[in-house]
Amino acid sequence: MSDTKPSPESPDPAATLRQAAGLAEHLGRIGAQWLPVAQPDQVQKLAAQFASPSPPETPAEPVSKAASSQAAASPRPAASSPEQRPEQRPEQRPEQRPEQRPDGKASAHRLPEDDSSGRQPYPGDPLPEPQRAQRLSDLSERVAACTRCEQLVQCRTKTVFGEGHVNPRVVFFGEGPGREEDLSGRPFVGRAGQLLTKMIEACKFDRQDVYIMNTVKCRPPNNRNPEPTEIENCREYFEAQLELLRPEYVVCLGLVAAQALLRTKLSVGRLRGKFHQHFDSKVLVTYHPAYLLRTPAAKKAAWDDLQLMLRDAGLM
Ligand code: SF4
Repeated sequence: MSDTKPSPESPDPAATLRQAAGLAEHLGRIGAQWLPVAQPDQVQKLAAQFASPSPPETPAEPVSKAASSQAAASPRPAASSPEQRPEQRPEQRPEQRPEQRPDGKASAHRLPEDDSSGRQPYPGDPLPEPQRAQRLSDLSERVAACTRCEQLVQCRTKTVFGEGHVNPRVVFFGEGPGREEDLSGRPFVGRAGQLLTKMIEACKFDRQDVYIMNTVKCRPPNNRNPEPTEIENCREYFEAQLELLRPEYVVCLGLVAAQALLRTKLSVGRLRGKFHQHFDSKVLVTYHPAYLLRTPAAKKAAWDDLQLMLRDAGLM
C-alpha cells in the first residue's frame, strides 16, 4: 500500500484504500467468504469516483456492483501475483481454511474463527416457552413411537429424546445413547455424561440451563456408530428440536454429531477452532467426552474450544 502514488485519476489513494478496506472489513463481518479478484482498470475508475468531490451524475461507463466488490477486495494492490492471490486458484474450495494457505497467511476475506457461509434465520417466529415445551413433548412422543430404524428399534430399551432448558443459550449435541442412557431414557448420564456435566459447569452453566440431545435417539448395538441411514432417519427429529430451541450456540460433541449437523465429511480436527452455522445458531465442534476419557491429553483442546464460545458470548 505504501507504493501507491497519487495520480490525476486517483488524487487521494490513501482515502480510497481506507474506504475499500472498511468495506472489506464489513463484508468479512457479515460473512463474505470469497470475493472476485480486482481488475486494475475498474479499480482505477472506482478510485477516481471515490476521490472526486462531486461525482458525475452519469458516469461515462457505469461501474457494476461486481466492480465495487472487486475494489473492496483489493486493499493490497501490491499483492498482485498469482501466488499472492489465493482467491484466483480454481482448486481453492470454500471449506479450505486460512491456515491451509501455503504462505501461512490468513486471507483478508475470511474471518479466522468464523465459517458462517449459508447463514439464514430459522423459519418462522420463535415460540413462547410454554408452547416450545409442548411441541418438544409432542415430538418426544413421536420419537418414542418411531420404528424407522429396524435394528435400533429391536435393541433399544428407551428412546433418548433430550432434556434441558426449553429456551437454552447452548445446546450440547452428541452422537447417540449408550447403555446407561438407553436404560434411563436420559442423555449423557454415564461416565461420559459426568464429564460433560463438568465441562458445562466449567463454562459456569448449570446442566439444567442448557439442553442436551443426540443425533440418533435409539442406542446402536454394542455402542457402534450410527449408520448414515439411521442418522438420516432421525434427522427430522434433531433438526425439529433445534428449530424449536433456537440456541445461540450448538456444541457438537465428536465427529458423528458434527458431520451430521453440518453435512460434511471433514474431520473434527478440520472443524474445530472456528464457528460454523446452522440457521441462526453458531456451531462449535469439539471432542466427545467419551474420547476425552480415553485421551485425557485432548482435554486442553476441548477447553480451548469451549473458551472460544465463552469469549464470543461475552462470558469471559
Ligand atoms: S434412531 Fe431415530 S429414526 Fe431411528 S428408530 Fe430411533 S427415533 Fe426413529
